[in-house]
Amino acid sequence: MKKRFNTKAVHFQMDDGEKNKSKTKPIYQTSAFSFKDLDDMEQYFHGEKDHLYSRYSNPNTDDLGFGVAQLEEAPAGIATSSGMSAILTGVLSIASPGEHIIVPQDLYGGTYQLFQQELQEWGVEVSVASFKNLNDIEAAIQKNTKLLYAEAVTNPLLRVENIEKLLELGEKHGLRVMIDNTFATPYFCQPYLQGADLVVHSATKYIGGHSDVTAGVLIGDTNLIAKAKKKMINIGANLSPFEGWLACRGLKTLSVRMAKQAENAAKLAEWFRESTNVSVVYYPEGLSSKGNGAMVSVDLGEGYDVHTFFRSLGWIKIVPTLAGVETTVSYPLNTSHRTVPESIRSELGISQGTARISVGIEDADDIIDGFSEALSLAKI
Ligand SMILES: *Cc1c(COP(=O)(O)O)cnc(C)c1O
Repeated sequence: MKKRFNTKAVHFQMDDGEKNKSKTKPIYQTSAFSFKDLDDMEQYFHGEKDHLYSRYSNPNTDDLGFGVAQLEEAPAGIATSSGMSAILTGVLSIASPGEHIIVPQDLYGGTYQLFQQELQEWGVEVSVASFKNLNDIEAAIQKNTKLLYAEAVTNPLLRVENIEKLLELGEKHGLRVMIDNTFATPYFCQPYLQGADLVVHSATKYIGGHSDVTAGVLIGDTNLIAKAKKKMINIGANLSPFEGWLACRGLKTLSVRMAKQAENAAKLAEWFRESTNVSVVYYPEGLSSKGNGAMVSVDLGEGYDVHTFFRSLGWIKIVPTLAGVETTVSYPLNTSHRTVPESIRSELGISQGTARISVGIEDADDIIDGFSEALSLAKI
């Protein structure tokens, strides 16, 4: 029977065929698997045994890839050592040296660096376009273009990508489309279902959800994921069993966390808009019928001292990551966008006063009190 989203989020783990059934999947903290005899081992190569060596596959990491694939309604998925390695294996499965990809200007800083520094060095050409304007993307298309790469919700200014339009453009020009769905999560957005070829997640963020694991997930159709899996194995970009297990534990509560965090985020965004005079509040609209995600960014503007603001946050920690159950704040200018050239940063609207808030599961009124206190102390 086909399960619905919330049920799948809890019941995704594969039967591991053990005689004694533990309620939760054990951690297969092993680098390899053993066999009764050579015939038994041969079975692995005929697909009758699942695992041989943990760099190739492991029950805990398989669960993570397959669990996220189920939530994205995709047939296949793999877990990797980080969001970055998931992006790398995904892109390399589509674009070879001499080929060309087009990416948005407002990419996650780490991805921007991966594309600008590493990929180009390996001979994959990269063009940066403003994805706010489809004509800009179309103008960047070359004969050797293979891929349009984008983020469902951008960082840190939370622009909702027009995935439909990107897919139309991809279709028109015979290009693959790959979406980083980290900020939106499959709870709010399912790009594979819409028609994207590959969807990537930094599972370090909402999928793990507790800031205790670094992991990545890549999902897509069976052929493309098989190709990506080979690359993952060859590069050694696999995830460790324990990290896979932790991320799976996080995944089980994705729905309830996202619902609560988005509810809090909507309240916080409204409070910033209605009750403060920060110069800009960024909170997406129209992301999904379930809500608009759990990130809120603000530009403090001229009226506040940014250092005092960050110093006055009290229990709200300053952390250069996002998506945990705790409310945290980051400063994009000095962290995620440190290496992005000033000209691009200012074009994007990332300024001295930009603060990115990852809203947690606390009581909304306490979160509001925390920011209210910080703003009143930081007032110039
Ligand atoms: C964090 C992040 C990444 C990179 O993931 P890691 O797990 O840190 O390697 C990629 N894309 C987005 C949108 C992210 O937020």
